[in-house]
Amino acid sequence: MYPPKFDYYRASSVDEALSLLQQHGANAKVLAGGHSLIPMMKMRLAQPGVLIDIGRIDELKGIRVEGDTLSIGPLTTHAAIAASEDVQRLATALSDAASVVGDLQVRNRGTIGGNLAHADPASDLPAAVLALGGEIEARGPAGSRTIAADDFFQGLFTTALDENEIITAIRVPTGQGTRVSAYVKFPHPASGYAVVGVAAVLDIAGNKVTTARVAANGAFECAKRLAGVEQALSGADATAEAAASAAEHATDGFSADDFMSDIFASADYRAHLLKVYTRRALQKALERA
Ligand SMILES: Cc1cc2nc3c(=O)[nH]c(=O)nc-3n(C[C@H](O)[C@H](O)[C@H](O)COP(=O)(O)OP(=O)(O)OC[C@H]3O[C@@H](n4cnc5c(N)ncnc54)[C@H](O)[C@@H]3O)c2cc1C
Repeated sequence: MYPPKFDYYRASSVDEALSLLQQHGANAKVLAGGHSLIPMMKMRLAQPGVLIDIGRIDELKGIRVEGDTLSIGPLTTHAAIAASEDVQRLATALSDAASVVGDLQVRNRGTIGGNLAHADPASDLPAAVLALGGEIEARGPAGSRTIAADDFFQGLFTTALDENEIITAIRVPTGQGTRVSAYVKFPHPASGYAVVGVAAVLDIAGNKVTTARVAANGAFECAKRLAGVEQALSGADATAEAAASAAEHATDGFSADDFMSDIFASADYRAHLLKVYTRRALQKALERA
């Protein structure tokens, strides 16, 4: 299928991309790896009249450790994130999530900025960034602002990003002391997207969990924290048994209507998977302690 006609601009800097966005308004879309936007255009689910390609802006690429923060450029590909020793060591759940996105071709083209901005409920990276307590830096005509991942994902394909803003960095705190994390998913057998995916981040002191942040993709219209699990684990023993018991709280605070339902997986099935994959994510994180 062919997308509708559009004008194409290649921006060579963030300033140029922002100025083009201002100029063309709601008719324009930023293009990064193109692995979500182009399929949407081919299916005519998105019909921007103008594409602003930011794919060659070098300042938006790369992974840096800045003190106790991991700073990731939005154009960093899933493959680069999965291969990064810094991400593997300091934000393992994100490395796990990036390594199970689609296939090698998708991981070589798709970017973290595009993945987060697109906010597909079945994407893998949102839950990891949310559980890791990440922040999204966005730049628009009025300058830069920082949006906590907790406030970023607002609904189905909906984020806190304004239409004239560009994500310029994703920042993830690396934690102090012993922090372990993991992401696991039940992939859709045809598409590979997450039917349910869970990211777990645990701070451990002695043999106790001091803080837990747990978030899920796929189950809901956007990535969400699992408050019941986090509360059950806070102060609990750092053991597989405690993790299994806490995972039973994965659906606490959600109603049947909160769960996604489709031809492949009903709301009930997703609720069941959520408990199973929460237990697996917690136990995988604990094995890394
Ligand atoms: C066959 C296939 C399988 C896939 N499987 C998975 C999977 O299993 N898990 C998964 O998570 N994803 C999967 N994806 C999606 C893939 O990860 C996408 O690459 C990603 O979601 C979007 O990133 P992109 O760089 O391609 O963005 P684009 O497609 O270029 O853009 C997507 C959206 O984000 C916006 N955008 C992009 N960059 C920025 C920025 N810096 N600032 C503001 N807005 C921006 C664009 O305007 C657009 O609205 C799959 C895709 C394909 C084609």
